[in-house]
Amino acid sequence: MESDSSTKFSPSKLNTYQDCPRRYRYRYVEKIKRGTQTVEAFLGTCVHTAFEKLYEQIGHGKLPPLEEILRAFEDEWSAGWSPDIEIKDRSYAPEDWKELGRECVKIYYDGHKPFDENRTVAVEKRVGFELMVDGAPYRIEGFVDRLALGKDGAFEIHDYKTGKTLPPQSDADSDWQLAIYDLAVRRDWPDTKAVRLIWHYVRHGKSLVSTRTPEQLAALEGEIAALIRTIKQDHEFAPHKTALCDWCEYRDLCPLFAHGEKVASMSFEALKKDDGVRLVDQMSAAESKRKELRDKLREIERDEDALRDSLIRYAEQHGVSAVAGLEGEVSITEKDEYHFPTKTSSPEALEALERELRASPLWKEVSHLDAKRLLDGYKRKEWPEALLKLAEDAVSRYAKRVKEKTVRFKRKKEIDED
Ligand code: SF4
Repeated sequence: MESDSSTKFSPSKLNTYQDCPRRYRYRYVEKIKRGTQTVEAFLGTCVHTAFEKLYEQIGHGKLPPLEEILRAFEDEWSAGWSPDIEIKDRSYAPEDWKELGRECVKIYYDGHKPFDENRTVAVEKRVGFELMVDGAPYRIEGFVDRLALGKDGAFEIHDYKTGKTLPPQSDADSDWQLAIYDLAVRRDWPDTKAVRLIWHYVRHGKSLVSTRTPEQLAALEGEIAALIRTIKQDHEFAPHKTALCDWCEYRDLCPLFAHGEKVASMSFEALKKDDGVRLVDQMSAAESKRKELRDKLREIERDEDALRDSLIRYAEQHGVSAVAGLEGEVSITEKDEYHFPTKTSSPEALEALERELRASPLWKEVSHLDAKRLLDGYKRKEWPEALLKLAEDAVSRYAKRVKEKTVRFKRKKEIDED
């Protein structure tokens, strides 16, 4: 697989890679277009259009009545609605979704009327900046739903959310989409003193506000650069299964879901002829057999434990350490066992023991390399950049990379629970 040749990145493009490199590959590297749109996305577009109209008129010194803004929403809905728009949860009809959109517009309008908390600079404004990564220039850009100036002179970056989840403040404080726009605004207007990031969760009538310090913004530039570097080095674009897969438009191509999608649309006759279906059914039978045998083995082990106890008692009562039978002999021996504290049984004691040994010359005799930990840290990229570089260097020079396939069977019930 070729690497990505992009020189332009938006926050949503970067987010797509973070959520799933394979989806990123389909969308931005192979540029596979999909006509499908979810009702959630369509509703969001219609609400955004209504707010665009609202602030356009306010910019001209006119306060449009709520009915006019609701009409703008409905016009956009009627013009764009198509039966191809995907509604996953069938308990809600298109009319229910439309009503929800109307409600979003109403909640926002009533909550912010007469819209004099700030002055709108632009709606749907493209903002961006250049970022150098390993000596090459990249353009980072996106669209701000609404850019405004607050009464205190601070820039405000407003974003409208129509989703059903109201995230905690900590999500707003760590979000990087609006923080990227913050960087862009400061580049375009270098005399900017302060920038507020504001998310309007219009279903809930609640706004979250956050700000970034200069140190956080500098760190963010470093994070973006590191992510671009990772994308550029990626040749595999491995699929990453998460709850977002339910909304992915590439399930029919994704190696994790393509066969399942094909099977879901097959007739019973076609199912019987499909080799994949046949093999999985055989695997299911083998798994059931294995479970049966494992249960049997556990039963045998329980019987053995009981017999062991009885034999120990017998040997003690008769003062012997070997008991003879027709088929053989059982010997009973005794030896000292040492049980050290463990992470689960006694974490403080374990920590104290490790502290003491680390400080003693004995440490180099009893400590050993934790290769699994090294590899986990390297793969999850969970360490600071300097440590990560050391880990990358050690892995690249000492670890032999081989492709190994594992086959794991899951019952439908487990898949649904996932
Ligand atoms: S279905 Fe999931 S794993 Fe597959 S490409 Fe889409 S998001 Fe990635």
